[in-house]
Amino acid sequence: MVDTAVSARTHELDRAHVFHSWSAQGALDPMVLAAAQGCWVWDGQGNRLLDFSSQLVFTNVGHQHPALVQAITDQVATLATSAPQHAVASRSEAARLIVEQLPGERLQKVFFTNGGTEAIENAVRMARLHTGRHKVLSAYRSYHGHTATSIHLTGDPRRWPNDTGAAGVVHFFGPYLYRSVFHAQTPEQESQRALAHLEQVITLEGPSTLAAVVIESVVGTAGVLMPPPGYLAGVRELCTRHGIMLVIDEVMAGFGRAGTWFGYQHDGAEGLAADPDLVAFAKGVNSGYVPLGGVAISTEIAATFAERPYPGGLTYSGHPLAAAAAVATIELMKHERIVEHAAEIGEQVLGPELRALAEQHQVIGEVRGAGVFWALELVSDRQTREPVVPYNASGSANKPMAELVSACRRRGLLPFVAGNRVHVVPPCTVSEDEARYGVALLGNALGEVFGG
Ligand code: PLP
Repeated sequence: MVDTAVSARTHELDRAHVFHSWSAQGALDPMVLAAAQGCWVWDGQGNRLLDFSSQLVFTNVGHQHPALVQAITDQVATLATSAPQHAVASRSEAARLIVEQLPGERLQKVFFTNGGTEAIENAVRMARLHTGRHKVLSAYRSYHGHTATSIHLTGDPRRWPNDTGAAGVVHFFGPYLYRSVFHAQTPEQESQRALAHLEQVITLEGPSTLAAVVIESVVGTAGVLMPPPGYLAGVRELCTRHGIMLVIDEVMAGFGRAGTWFGYQHDGAEGLAADPDLVAFAKGVNSGYVPLGGVAISTEIAATFAERPYPGGLTYSGHPLAAAAAVATIELMKHERIVEHAAEIGEQVLGPELRALAEQHQVIGEVRGAGVFWALELVSDRQTREPVVPYNASGSANKPMAELVSACRRRGLLPFVAGNRVHVVPPCTVSEDEARYGVALLGNALGEVFGG
């Protein structure tokens, strides 16, 4: 199935000519991805690995799903491309399906982009133009993308080398009970205190200067932090009180990942309590088969641009192939109950299995998550909660985590590692057996690197 000569050539050409993201180029040794099917991938030597990363947390219906491959193939044959100003069947249908899945009736229009960062850029642009205000609040523990506004909104260390003074962005502490900056003991306390803190930030920054609060419903790469009870509803209330737009970033959490269609459905009244003004999405919307992102827009904000032109656009906004993949993904998720399946796998398999793993491995300080969106926080001491590697570790300081990745791969598991955490993020379609098998491999790898 895998031609090792082709793989060798792929690797050689990659090293000669491909400049990779977020990396010092010199030491890179990328794994060749030769083939993929369902929850499995094959490397350049033909080794099969269980994909517990969903690549970058986007193959929500798995690799090479026949329905998606067919939908894209059919679209290529019918209308392979189009300029954004035309009405195109796959784009119209994708927009309808997306707003139909969103809770409530307020989000009725979609502006399509090519990915998550552009979705955030446009959400903030819309909020600024709608409110006539400039400043935006976001959480320290967050990732919102790599373009100018998104990288400034981002809290995690990827912002540092790009930060030109964070013009117009102010960061706050979101809830994170395991490392509570509010000295909270319970999720309820954490929620209330994080809201009191946000209220202070809003007061001191000047509510009339704030266009938007941008927040991940479930914080993704920065930790898989589920919103504690009432938190998103409380943020909504603060925003409403001060005329601030609430932008919810669903780029990673959306489309089944947390066992719900959208991550903010974890917070009260099936998401109606959070009631965002703008929702940014990407990744899972079409399982990443063709780049796609977008912003779902409230009727009030859409009305701002009814007479006045919206000053933004992209050549490939709502590309027909990407939109066709979105239509196929959403229909598949609905008809095959994939979101419900992800929720069940979380409740019945991943949650219990990962908690059992924590009983065997002292290095696991906390297990948290839902659906197919979990994190194991690795600590050198359970009492002090000292992370196994320092914040933003690289090179030799990050050696234990690098060794863990190698140990997983040698066993046939493709993991997702961020800081001192392993994120367990397989496709939403992962079977019970695959989920159990992957956790067992992860347990073996943890044992090898950190002991029992
Ligand atoms: N927002 C969140 C929550 C993300 O996880 C990401 C990417 O990982 C982005 C935004 C940026 O998306 P993209 O890489 O598609 O631009």
